[in-house]
Amino acid sequence: MITFANSFSQLPSFLFERVTPTPIKDARLMHATALRERLTPGLSDDDFKRWINGEHSLPGEQRIATRYAGHQFGVWAGQLGDGRAISLGEILSSGERLEIQTKGSGLTPFSRMGDGRAVIRSSVREYLASEALHSLGVPTTRVLALLTGSDSVHRESVERSAVVARVFPTNLRFGHFELCYHFKREAELDALVQYTQETFYPGLTVAQMLTEIVRRTAHLMARWQDVGFCHGVMNTDNMSILGLTIDYGPCGFLEDTVLNYVCNHSDHQGRYAYNQQPSIGMWNLERLLVCFLKFVPKEFLQETLNLYPSLFEAEYLRLSRQKLGLLTTEAEDYKLFVEILQTLAKLSIDYTFFWRELCGFCPGDSAGLERIRETYGTREELEAWLLKYGQRLGRETSDDRARAERMRLHNPKYVLKNYIAQEVISDVEAGHSEKLVRWLKVLERPFDEHPEVEAYAGPTPPEHKHYEVSCSS
Ligand code: AMP
Ligand code: MG
Repeated sequence: MITFANSFSQLPSFLFERVTPTPIKDARLMHATALRERLTPGLSDDDFKRWINGEHSLPGEQRIATRYAGHQFGVWAGQLGDGRAISLGEILSSGERLEIQTKGSGLTPFSRMGDGRAVIRSSVREYLASEALHSLGVPTTRVLALLTGSDSVHRESVERSAVVARVFPTNLRFGHFELCYHFKREAELDALVQYTQETFYPGLTVAQMLTEIVRRTAHLMARWQDVGFCHGVMNTDNMSILGLTIDYGPCGFLEDTVLNYVCNHSDHQGRYAYNQQPSIGMWNLERLLVCFLKFVPKEFLQETLNLYPSLFEAEYLRLSRQKLGLLTTEAEDYKLFVEILQTLAKLSIDYTFFWRELCGFCPGDSAGLERIRETYGTREELEAWLLKYGQRLGRETSDDRARAERMRLHNPKYVLKNYIAQEVISDVEAGHSEKLVRWLKVLERPFDEHPEVEAYAGPTPPEHKHYEVSCSS
């Protein structure tokens, strides 16, 4: 017996609408994660599939779509809302509140010009990317199941329908708060703030909760930078109030190190470029914090926002030291890190490949980095940096082997590159799940060796570079 909590639907009715999903045709359950057993034990394959697809309901569930607003590409966009995502309810599992939401389940009152659908391409990307980030230690929504269907969905071309079921403690975004604040819904804002505080930040005052949201957002940005993740659409409606990565669209990982890499083909100004993410995180927080003017003094909001740069920098520096394998701290460490980033960018070196190869580097010895030299030639800038890095390592206490082992726990061998995602997408579109299963296994353990896919740990082959991913999904 599955018990639903449905706490969101206790909130004022302005914040959500009851909805009926429109199932996709000929739904096939392509995959379900380990969460399935935890959340819906005993549910048969067929009932589970039909439940995710909205053909079967479970006692006590309430399907809703929520109303939110937001700033998109720096501009106030007014009311938005779950245009194709439907929450099935929350399940309390081992003390955790897990809300299940399906994306691509048909029209809602917030669909605007959209069709309420999701295509296989974007659904597979979200499925793989969320599990990949989780395994890299980045806070994120998780996934539960992937269905594919036979409906024709019109994007740049005609594609097929899919549904992703994802899981998070809550769907609350900055945009829910912006909605109540900008539409002057005082009572709704009060209820929303109280609900968020009591349910997700228990024991904290509103002021403490805001500080915590700033901290989590700063740390999330530091983690994205660290693993080379580019979200692509950091609108305030895509910012989780819990500091999770949410709403995977045209996201991507750095391949060749391009510091102003824009993964979203539709982002012509490069607003959400890789190196802009930390400052956009702060811009988005400012949009959130103004919504709390009636709860805390204005000066407090400014001070809280001002904490962001130092919170981000401290976390990013901590992660950078881990990448470099440093146990001690020296004032020049950040400079050393920035220098290598700039060198990687200048020489167009693959970000993930470089860091993983650096794990085997032994100062004073020609060992290590052979594969980098083989691929990119012996480059003066890199050799100069390695000399400095070698000197820095000389002032560390741990030996080369211990450092290499430690570094391999922080520098992944595998990330979800676009061409890998594309291979899986083609396989799923052809009706197979083998590659999806194989890559989920690899991406679940990105720091381990996986000899069967060794070739994918190298720099992206030239013919697979420059995949363009649009906003269409
Ligand atoms: P996104 O950029 O994916 O975060 O979406 C921005 C807004 O558009 C959200 O309110 C989505 O729910 C909505 N949206 C995106 N795609 C669709 C679609 N195919 N049908 C309905 N609404 C959509
Ligand atoms: Mg969104």
